[in-house]
Formats: sequence, structure tokens, C-alpha cells
Amino acid sequence: MTYQEQTYLSRCAHFKRGDFVFQEGEERNHTFIIESGSIGIMPGKETSKDNASRVTLGPGEIFGEMAILSHGQRTATAVALEDTELFMIPRQVLQERITNLDPLVALLMSLLVDRYRSLRIKHAEIADLQPALPAIEEEQDEEENYEPITTVSNLNVQKENALKELRVEQELRKAIEKKQFVAYMQPILSLDTGKIAGFETLIRWIHPERGIVPPLEFIPVAERTNVVQLLDRLMFEQACYIAPELNALTEGKVEKLFVSVNLSGINFEDEDIVDSVKRCISKTKVDPSLIKLEITESALIGDSKQAEEVLRGFKALGLHIALDDFGTGYSSLSYLHKFSIDTLKIDRSFVSQIRTDTKTLDILRAIVDLSGSFKFKVVAEGIEYEEEADMLKKLGCDYGQGYLYGRPLSIEDARQFIKTNLDL
Ligand code: C2E
Ligand code: CA
Ligand code: CA
Repeated sequence: MTYQEQTYLSRCAHFKRGDFVFQEGEERNHTFIIESGSIGIMPGKETSKDNASRVTLGPGEIFGEMAILSHGQRTATAVALEDTELFMIPRQVLQERITNLDPLVALLMSLLVDRYRSLRIKHAEIADLQPALPAIEEEQDEEENYEPITTVSNLNVQKENALKELRVEQELRKAIEKKQFVAYMQPILSLDTGKIAGFETLIRWIHPERGIVPPLEFIPVAERTNVVQLLDRLMFEQACYIAPELNALTEGKVEKLFVSVNLSGINFEDEDIVDSVKRCISKTKVDPSLIKLEITESALIGDSKQAEEVLRGFKALGLHIALDDFGTGYSSLSYLHKFSIDTLKIDRSFVSQIRTDTKTLDILRAIVDLSGSFKFKVVAEGIEYEEEADMLKKLGCDYGQGYLYGRPLSIEDARQFIKTNLDL
């Protein structure tokens, strides 16, 4: 399944009182979380409201979760007891999310789910009936030192977190439709000349009530819910449109201005990524050598064959590649060579230490020396003080980016920045 098909699948649906969510015998293809209202679940096809074996579930409760495990047919019936909003999570999306988890978490999750299934098979005939508490209690008695990992209170916290995540995901998708995401541009200067060399595209959410929302408040959720691909493509397209326009403003006073754009590692799992980038380049007619893709080391760690292929695809299109946040992860220089990276971006945490920590300075000196022989450029991020800029310049670092030179700017302010910086 391509990402375009899968991303729009989780959704919030409305059920009127008396509507069936599913009935016995139907295919198990969704798990549900109640956003508001209530749901009655009864074994078989029995739907009478006074049914003694009916279980009533309210907001935050999960049902139909056997869909996580397997296809097969529902053995119970779920009906809305009042007007009810449900988050519907398709089986495939759940399984993909479980596979994308930290491998240890994924393992524990499958162990727990398997155990739950075998308990249910042993003790209950109603596979879709929630909750299966008697079975679990019996199991607890059997094991002497058994300590439940999930207490009721942290289960409630987990449910609340899951709901919050689903709500933010819906909000992000709506914000994309309403075109609330815009590109801000942070200047990157040549340390040698002090002249503008390029910009980094940084996403901002212009929220009607909250104002400008910074990316750290939504990128992590966007990454977990596969929305980030959509955001990254939006920013990539913006970068393609803006790059020639900004270049036209320099009146030839500097070499080509590059425009960097961030690409989350999740994109590397998407088979369509290189083609979709290619389509965007054709559509916007941008000179691809103006565009630099910023990726982090973590994108290269997982399936390095796949990463290598994607990077080769990007390079074949004529794009430049920057390794972002160097100094925060494994910081292995071997990636530079292996993936023919053009630019290394030294993380702010490194830069902010150079004035006080001689070891950091030594490491930076070694990296800059290597950049000469291996032909990659070095950008120092997060420069806030003149003293830092002076030290980096003395080391021979190529470019600097940070509040000392300029914060991320609206497009209009970025245009003005070029004019001021180049005395135009
Ligand atoms: P990043 O790619 O490392 O971007 C640099 C961040 O450092 C930006 O934060 C920038 O505003 C901030 N920064 C720059 N100079 C200074 C400085 O001198 N001092 C301090 N304290 N901070 C400085 P921002 O815009 O909040 O972005 C945060 C992160 O969000 C980015 O870190 C990047 O990882 C992510 N991000 C931003 N836009 C996108 C996007 O379009 N796609 C993806 N996937 N991630 C994005
Ligand atoms: Ca970046
Ligand atoms: Ca960075």
C-alpha cells in the first residue's frame, strides 16, 4: 500500500442512536475508540436493550480490538446507545504502526496480545466482548509473583493519550486542507564573507486560535501518524517555488543561493518518494541543484540498503543532500562517505560548547579538516554569539546559521533580508 492510500484511512465517524457499528458475522477490519457517546456490545446478534450480557462502553474505551490480531468474523454486535463519535482505525494501519514501533515494544506488544488471545480462547467464547477481566484475574492467581504492568490509572492515561493523538492527527489533516502550513526561511551565511549563501525552510502552523505553532509541537505526532510525509512534500514544493524567486533577487552579487528543506526519515519507507520528488521538480521547473534535502542520521540507520537507494535516486535527480543535527546521534562520519553527502550540519548543542569545551573544539577542527579532503561543506547551526562565529570562521567552517544572523523569517522578510545583506 502506498502512503497516499494509507494516510487517509483513520477517521472519526458519527453513529446515531440505534446504529450498528458492526454485527456478528461481519469481517473484522477496524478497531474503534469512543470519542463521545456510548456503545453497547452483546454476544451474537442479540440486540435487545435489556440484554443481561450487554456491556456498555463510554468515552476513551476501545472495542473491536480483536481486529488487531486477525481477520475473521465478529462474534458480537456493537450498537450506538446514543449519538456517538468513534475513531475508526483500520487493521492495516494498526499493524503498520505496531511494526514501526521500537522493536522491543513491538515484541512485548505481540506477546501480550497473543497471551490475551489464548486466555480469551480458553475462557470466553465471545471474542469481541470487552473486557475479558475474569480470564485475566484467574491468570493472575495462577502466577505467584505476578505484578500487573498496566494498572487502571495508567491504562486511563494511555487511553487519554491515544485519544489526544488521534485528535491531533485529525486536526493536522484539516489544517493541511485549510492551507494553514507555511514555510519560514532561516538565512544561512558564508562565514568567510558574511554574505547570504542560502536558507533553510522551516515549517510553521498558522493556527487560527493559537497563532504560530512551532514544529516541535506537531512534527513528532505527524511522524507517528504518517502525516509528516504530506507536510514534507508541502515544504518541498514551497522550496521549489521559492528558490528561483530568491535567486532572482541577488542580482548576481553572490553565487547561487541554495534552499534547504527537511525530510523526515519516515519518507525513506515510502516507495514513491523519489518519483514524487521528481514530479515536483518537473512541475515547478526548479533547477534541482538549488535544493538541498536535510536528513538526519536516524533515517540512514534502519534499512541502509533502502536508504542508499533513495539517496542515490535523489542525487541522480541533481539534488544536494545535507546530514542534519550532526553531534546528536551516533555521529558517525562513515555516513558521509557511504551516502555521498554534500553538507554536514553541526548541531547547536555542539556549537554552544565550543567556547567552553576544548574537546568539542578539537572535534570540530577535525571535521572541518576532513571536509577539505572529502569535499563536503560544513554548516554550523544555532550560532548565537559573535565569539562562536569567530571561532568557527577561524576553523575554516563554511557556513553559519543562527539567531546571530537571523531567525526563521516569513517569505516577505526573507526577500528583505537578501536586499539588506547584499546592500541592494
Ligand atoms: P532543525 O532542522 O535542526 O532546524 C533548526 C532549528 O533550530 C529551528 O527550529 C530553528 O529555528 C532553530 N534555531 C536556529 N538557529 C537557532 C539559534 O541560534 N538558537 C536556537 N535556540 N535555535 C535556533 P524550529 O523551526 O523550531 O524547528 C525545529 C525542528 O523541527 C527542526 O530542527 C526540524 O527537525 C523540524 N522541522 C522543521 N520544519 C520541518 C519540516 O518541514 N519537516 C520536517 N520533517 N521537520 C521539520
Ligand atoms: Ca534541519
Ligand atoms: Ca538541525
